[in-house]
Amino acid sequence: MRRVEVDAAGCWIWTGPLRKDGRGQVSVRGKYQLAYRVIFEHLRGPIPPRLVLDHLCRNRACVNPDHLESVEQAENVRRGRAAEATRAVFDALWSDRTHCANGHDLVRVGLLTRSRNGYTTRECRACRAEQKQRAHLRAMSDPDRASRIREQNRAAVARYRARKEAS
Ligand SMILES: [Zn+2]
Ligand SMILES: [Zn+2]
Repeated sequence: MRRVEVDAAGCWIWTGPLRKDGRGQVSVRGKYQLAYRVIFEHLRGPIPPRLVLDHLCRNRACVNPDHLESVEQAENVRRGRAAEATRAVFDALWSDRTHCANGHDLVRVGLLTRSRNGYTTRECRACRAEQKQRAHLRAMSDPDRASRIREQNRAAVARYRARKEAS
């Protein structure tokens, strides 16, 4: 664990030697092995034969066992290609775009971008705000949820006031 640095995404970045393909490696009894496999087996137990570990976070230098999943080799390849295709579709969808599907002027309202699994998703800020507003109205139309939300809001305001008085 001395060779691990945790990043903002929760990835455990291997700071030891890396292979050409970006995967970390570690010498165990004079033999180089993949760092994430060694750490996974150390923390979670043996990896079943024939199974490979897939990086759900798409960061090959990551050794966080929670970011790894055992999948068949073919599935691994298929997922890599699917992520590649998804990225291409997203990039094509948003390049040179001036208005969102609902007609908002993207230069004026701006875009929300979020990195996920190695590609960037983009979303119209105005659409997002409308979605949130609709979700809020839906929640408030249910009396039980509405009273829970009001209770939470009251508690938040009380906490805020208490903090302000304390400082
Ligand atoms: Zn990761
Ligand atoms: Zn929009």
